[in-house]
Amino acid sequence: MASFTLQGIPVSRGIAIGRAHLLRPAALDVQHYLVAQEQVEAEVLRLQDAIARVHKDLQALWSDLPQDAPTELGAFIDVHALILSDPMLSEAPLDIIRTRHYNAEWALVTQIDELSAQFDEIEDDYLRERKADIQQVAERVLKVMTGTANTVPRSDGIDERSANMIVVARDISPADMMQFRDVAFTGFVTDEGGQNSHTAIVSRSLGIPAVVGMGNASRLIEQDDWLIIDSDAGVVIVAPTTLVLDQYRERQLLLQKARKKLTKLRKTPSITQDGVEITLLANIELPQDAAAALEAGANGVGLFRSEFLFMERSGQEHQLPSEEQQFDAYRMAVTAMKGRPVTIRTLDVGADKPLDSTEHNVLNPALGLRAIRYCLAEPQLFLTQLRAILRASAFGPVKLLIPMMAHGFEIDQTLAMIEQAKASLAAEGKKFDADIAVGAMIEIPAAALSLPMFVKKLDFLSIGTNDLIQYTLAIDRADHEVAHLYDDLHPAILQLLYMVISAGQKADIPVSICGGMAGDIRLTRLLIGMGFRELSMPAALLPEIKQEILNTRMEALQIPVRKILRSYDAAVIRETLASMKASAPVLH
Ligand code: PEP
Ligand code: MG
Repeated sequence: MASFTLQGIPVSRGIAIGRAHLLRPAALDVQHYLVAQEQVEAEVLRLQDAIARVHKDLQALWSDLPQDAPTELGAFIDVHALILSDPMLSEAPLDIIRTRHYNAEWALVTQIDELSAQFDEIEDDYLRERKADIQQVAERVLKVMTGTANTVPRSDGIDERSANMIVVARDISPADMMQFRDVAFTGFVTDEGGQNSHTAIVSRSLGIPAVVGMGNASRLIEQDDWLIIDSDAGVVIVAPTTLVLDQYRERQLLLQKARKKLTKLRKTPSITQDGVEITLLANIELPQDAAAALEAGANGVGLFRSEFLFMERSGQEHQLPSEEQQFDAYRMAVTAMKGRPVTIRTLDVGADKPLDSTEHNVLNPALGLRAIRYCLAEPQLFLTQLRAILRASAFGPVKLLIPMMAHGFEIDQTLAMIEQAKASLAAEGKKFDADIAVGAMIEIPAAALSLPMFVKKLDFLSIGTNDLIQYTLAIDRADHEVAHLYDDLHPAILQLLYMVISAGQKADIPVSICGGMAGDIRLTRLLIGMGFRELSMPAALLPEIKQEILNTRMEALQIPVRKILRSYDAAVIRETLASMKASAPVLH
């Protein structure tokens, strides 16, 4: 196969080399995982049992047919029974389980894909249309299996095999992404998504190379194709030649070495050359991520995106985590951070993080009932979460962060609910930090334009640049068609950021940035030059940002930063930013 290159939007760093693992969309959407050698026969049996069950179901359907049923119906069932007995469907997937170690559902779907492709080639209309029958039979088998699918261990003994697989999909929902966390895939490629879509965020926090917004990669790339992801360039090379593969392997090695070198900075405080300390915090999605945050040398957690706890699906039926389950998760993060502050953001669902798939039908999810709006509309759910977070605050420093606030009454209602949660815990004699700091995400332009409302009532602010850019520039952060308009250097964004930090300084309350801009090394000097002293980012990016700070002299930033903030000319802004970088001394 000839090699070709696809271009997309880079969302994380590094190089990944591996084989394509295609995820199927929609109707035959199933879990994909590899089973350990000793579980292969059990997996084969699971598929055989499901096929036998469907045989029985078809027989029962046949015998229950009413006398006056149209004859086509009986013939239809016969065709399905025949398809089910055909070795192409009853045996080939078993071979796939045995040879490739795919889980049963994946093996079946892989085989259906192959059959479907063969059917597409058939000239005869009637025969070609039998493809739909095959898919329906497969769906029946899958339906029988999904009830038991989750009982199969998903990550035992599979790391080596999955370690060089690259997931290729039309799109990966944040919920599915959470499932991939358990399996060490080496990269992600998606047709859709933007730089700060939540799928991109998770891949960044996993430190895994990814390219999104590729348009039609999932149609051009085939199962098991060799791929190279050059995520810094946003490029995917399909079926590379040996020469190219070797070059990239070498580059990969060099990058790994450079990264390893940076880990030496773990305990070095992040202070500029002229003595200004910058607090570097980590963004986490699950309590387990706290380990990587510590490993990277984070001063704490600046953003715990708690909604990801609500997205881990246990089975088909969606279940919200109870107060106890949430408490356990928050406490785990708090204790893991060993006395460093943990900023827990309350549930931020909606838009590209739906709690269940039906939410996709909402008219305009990004402008809909999301985040704090959702929580205030579901007070019981919100109170449960507030109680769990408060209880965790008895185990170490915790801050409460509220997403998507825009209105004064939202602040008042939220603070009242926090008081209510505190009172209920006090009445039960449960411990919590009565003085817990409460802050707001500034991520809606309206909030940035009405800061006095916020600084008066809250203890700190944290800027969510991902949404702030989305709402200010009116571009969907997950839509690759408008990704080129996503511009963090747009004067409007820089002005808003400056307004927020200035208001925070005036009111003497801390302001951090926890959106993507905080982890973008191109912007580090600009942000600290503007006055930001707290940046929160994916742990994987933290060491290089620290190195940048160690290389910076704050004094040298004043004039160029002022020039950038006064300019409304994109070229001047970019040139000045580049000059800030070039003039910096290099640390050896
Ligand atoms: C943001 O909007 O910048 C942010 C940090 O929150 P999230 O990416 O989870 O929306
Ligand atoms: Mg946000």
